[in-house]
Amino acid sequence: MTFLRLLPALLLGVAGLAAEPVRYVIHVSVDGLRTAAVTALSATSLPNFTRLRLQGAGTDNARCDFDFSITLPNHTTQLTGRGIAGPAGHNWSNNTDPAPGQTLATNKGAYIAGVFDVAHDHGLRTAAYVSKSKFALFAASWDAANGAPDTTGPDHGRNKIDLYRHDGNTAALVAQLAADQRAQPARYAFLHLTDLDSVGHALGWDPTPGSPYSNALLRIDNELGVLFRLVDESPALAGRTAIVFTADHGGFEKNHGDPTLAVDYTIPFYVWGPGVTGGADLYALNPATRANPGSGRPGYDAGPQPIRNGEAGNVCLQLLGLGPIPGSTIGAAQDLAVGR
Ligand SMILES: [Zn+2]
Repeated sequence: MTFLRLLPALLLGVAGLAAEPVRYVIHVSVDGLRTAAVTALSATSLPNFTRLRLQGAGTDNARCDFDFSITLPNHTTQLTGRGIAGPAGHNWSNNTDPAPGQTLATNKGAYIAGVFDVAHDHGLRTAAYVSKSKFALFAASWDAANGAPDTTGPDHGRNKIDLYRHDGNTAALVAQLAADQRAQPARYAFLHLTDLDSVGHALGWDPTPGSPYSNALLRIDNELGVLFRLVDESPALAGRTAIVFTADHGGFEKNHGDPTLAVDYTIPFYVWGPGVTGGADLYALNPATRANPGSGRPGYDAGPQPIRNGEAGNVCLQLLGLGPIPGSTIGAAQDLAVGR
């Protein structure tokens, strides 16, 4: 009897809850994540990556931007749904701290909307947790002075990121996110974790178990575990929270700046949460609209497109039931299926 009563719940996915709409999204970008390091370790060494991969739908063969495999441009791509180069691109190709007064708009000569704009203009609380100082670009571009006026329904103001936190210590950063989310959850929270990129530049992108890079991955697994515990243990979040998980670029030896190298442009993309088919391959779920690029590097004119980190923002909004980022070109149709 007990088993029969449990069975429907077990069949209904992640938290055993039936298709409750997603109310909260945590968008995680692990800087410099090479999936080869994940698959080189045993499932038990990485319990939280294992959970993400078993309960989430995803691929280890997503792509970063076509022209650049560096950090700040690719995070701008994730948050704006635009490539970097060209008339439709966000055009931010610099990978250093922005100069005082510099924003995405001053660089482009036109306002660039982001995922924060759409969420905030619909009255959703937003937050960003970043572990590199150069992400100040986002705080500056979308603050009370530089964010666009809110013309969607009631006016929620121009400051599109309600809570912006920078801490180079990612364990402290993630603990702060968990504390904040327990107290006053953001409906959309962006989290950037620097550890693997920092170790990669200093000591190499070596996916071999026992390497400094692989050991840093164990710490990232712990941080992912903090997020899972946050969701599991919070009555407001459990069964109503999705995680969109990707990276800005991979890496090789001590760098990642060559966008023509597969080790640089190959990244993971996973979605976890209510309605997601656990263990599903995102390419298999989307045969008409996304094409697995094999080892290749398709341009933005290829059809169908590979799954890209640049669609993370639009996928987050899709999960929240909101439309795409204005001006976005990557995933703007919001048609990525994550469940059967
Ligand atoms: Zn990076």
